[in-house]
Amino acid sequence: MIQLVKGTKDILGAEVKAWQDIERKMRNLCETFGIGEIRTPIFEFTELFVRGVGETTDIVQKEMYTFTDDGDRSLTLRPEGTAGVARAYIEHGMHNQAQPTKLYYISPTFRCENTQAGRQRQFHQFGVEMLGSYSAAQDAESISVAAALLEEMGIQGVELRMNSLGCPECRSRYNKTLRDFIGQNLDKLCPTCKERFEKNPLRVLDCKEEGCKTIIANAPSVLDCLDEECTGHFQKVQDILTEMGIAFTIDPKIVRGLDYYTRTVYEFISDGLTVCGGGRYDNLIEECGGKPTGAVGFGLGIERLVMILEKQKGEIVEAPERDVFIGSMGDKGFLKAQGLALSLRKAGISADCDTVERSVKAQMKYANKIGAKYSLVIGDSELENGVVELKEMETGEKTSISITELANVLAQKCK
Ligand code: ATP
Ligand code: MG
Repeated sequence: MIQLVKGTKDILGAEVKAWQDIERKMRNLCETFGIGEIRTPIFEFTELFVRGVGETTDIVQKEMYTFTDDGDRSLTLRPEGTAGVARAYIEHGMHNQAQPTKLYYISPTFRCENTQAGRQRQFHQFGVEMLGSYSAAQDAESISVAAALLEEMGIQGVELRMNSLGCPECRSRYNKTLRDFIGQNLDKLCPTCKERFEKNPLRVLDCKEEGCKTIIANAPSVLDCLDEECTGHFQKVQDILTEMGIAFTIDPKIVRGLDYYTRTVYEFISDGLTVCGGGRYDNLIEECGGKPTGAVGFGLGIERLVMILEKQKGEIVEAPERDVFIGSMGDKGFLKAQGLALSLRKAGISADCDTVERSVKAQMKYANKIGAKYSLVIGDSELENGVVELKEMETGEKTSISITELANVLAQKCK
């Protein structure tokens, strides 16, 4: 028996209903924010992610699903959504449209990680990218989308944590300060962090090893290294969020896992789990071959959202439901039931009939199982009279109805 691949998951039953509901909420919310959908390919040239996400990131160093196609091109399954959107923005000259360009996606994402709770190899992201503005208002607007979604989902106790990494100049100043600090503690860090120390010391702040976390706790704050402009930008983001009534805390340890971030970075955390992460990435478009373009966005893990929902609201169970089950007796009744079911379905009524050729008793048992609100049985006499007995399953109450009137009556009853 072939089983599913480690780190992947089938989504089915009641859970798939919950997913549909979540996706619907995401789409409706984006509509009200004026954010249009974009669907980029599931794979891109590997080079896009290496350049866009950054060579020293966990994603590029060890998490990408990369393969070579028969034209000897190196391709990679999307490990995040922003790089693909950046490519599409440039490729379609979207900077020529009214700015900002606001886009969202709901898409499978692939990372070859050690699997554990909340960490899969295929997971799904809801991402929002806003391109074409350097203003703090754009940072705040992007944050407000995620905040509104979590609020609408009724999730309790989500905390918004923010930081600013400054512009590249601030960052290189901070890198120097940080390198000095880490250098004094190098022997206590994990092997990966020893490497990070050389190439990108900021990454050390993102390490999940307990030993490294203890050391990092005393690291100097990036906020002390920001210049006046970057400090002003960060303050403005905070002022707008306060105006919007969105609560936040400042956490100078937040650096995010991707290299492209500049200035504002943020995370929404619930029960110790990051459900949404994002920030500003003012250099990415240029890095990918476009004109300098201010941009900000986030990625939200749908599996983690579902995990939190289940934890807070209990396991998702949803009873099946059908408007009507059309039972049948005898060959003619069976035939009629098939046609009737389709005509009712076309009239917008969720109808079902027997397609297994069960006994009438077994058909009624099935009608109960699928949660039919009404049922009826068509046999020779019903066909002859053109009338059926419509039974309300919950009360057992029966009403005689002409077959030709069935669609109208059910449409009324099941509104
Ligand atoms: P983490 O620090 O938890 O590894 P990250 O910095 O790699 O997160 P992002 O790249 O910002 O995360 O991805 C955005 C969101 O996607 C995360 O906040 C999380 O909800 C979700 N996510 C990331 N990796 C996984 C995964 N392997 N499985 C499930 N969800 C994930
Ligand atoms: Mg990660």
